[in-house]
Order: sequence, then C-alpha cells, then structure tokens
Amino acid sequence: MTRPLIVSDCDGVLLNFIDPFIAYLGEEHGLTLKMTSFALSGNIHDADGNPVEASRFPALLDGFFTTHMATQTPIDGAVAALADLAQDCDIVILTNIGDGHAVTRTEELARLGMPYRVIGNLGPKGGPLAGLVENFAPSLAFFIDDLPPHHSSAKKLAPDVHRIHMVAETALQALIPPAPDADARIDDWAAAHAHIRRLIEEPA
Ligand SMILES: [Mg+2]
Repeated sequence: MTRPLIVSDCDGVLLNFIDPFIAYLGEEHGLTLKMTSFALSGNIHDADGNPVEASRFPALLDGFFTTHMATQTPIDGAVAALADLAQDCDIVILTNIGDGHAVTRTEELARLGMPYRVIGNLGPKGGPLAGLVENFAPSLAFFIDDLPPHHSSAKKLAPDVHRIHMVAETALQALIPPAPDADARIDDWAAAHAHIRRLIEEPA
C-alpha cells in the first residue's frame, strides 16, 4: 500500500524568511523593508526613504540565499510535526528557489532537523506537484504553501491534492487573505499536524 505524500513549501512555512531577509537587507545593503502590504519588492527603501526599484529585487533575493540562508530559523512546530508525519508519509519540499540554491537548502533543512528531499522550482507549483503525485501514486496527498497563486495552480493541475494555505510568519498573516483555492487555512503547525493526521486516519 502506498503512503500519503506531503508536499510543502519552505519559506514562510518551514523556515522564517521575512525577519532574516529584513536583517540581511539592513546589514548588507543599508536597505529597509516594511511589510505594509504583501509586495516584497515594492516595500524596500534606501536610507533616504526612496523606494528601491523592483528590478533590483531578484539580485537582492539571490544574494540573501547565497550568503544568508543559514540565518533562516525553523517555523515553530515544523520540525516536530514533520518528524512525526514522516513516520507514515513521504515528504517533499517544493521551494521556489534557483537550482543553484537547492543543494544548500537541502543541507540547511537537514541541519535544522528536516532531512527531506528538496526540489527547486521557479513559477507556478501545480505542474511539479502533479508530477510528484504521478510518481509517488500516494494514498492521499497534501500541499502546503503560503502563497495563494500556488493553490490556484495546484487546484487546476492536481485537483485531488488536499491544499492547506499556511501563512506561518506573523508579519504576513494579516496581509495575505485566505487563498480561495485552498481547502483550509491553517497558520500553525500544531493545528496543521492534527488536521493532516485526522485526514490520514479517516480519509473522506
Ligand atoms: Mg513560501
């Protein structure tokens, strides 16, 4: 019998991103980021308060992952929840990060107690999610992500996967409304863990 499959995002779900990214912007570039809306690139300012051009954002993000990934800390409860679920489920981390950073991310997650397979992706996640479901042929599949567009993509291309919209970083919780294409909005791992366990034990 096949096992359930859990496909989880990393930034904002397993690892804190916003606080370490803000620290990096300040320390390395003298920039500030205030999360007044959910638009990272539009909310970065220089020392004079001028907005930083959106075209600089990809390089800033790449620099963060190149030199500061190790400053990312686990989201509360993620390590313990996944360790428990991994006894009965296959776990894959599907993270939007350049291929060059996927190896470092795999090592970082393992160092922090999350020794799971990491797949680097760019763009919508529905396609790669559907591919994983085809490969694993799981008894039940879950997708966890903080960004609503990924839930829309997942619903379209992997509709049978149970989609949990988790916004684990408090700075973002009020800024990201529940994803209309997710099955549930659950922002903390203790509740998500119980929710997944319930569905595994009593499939609908
Ligand atoms: Mg994310």
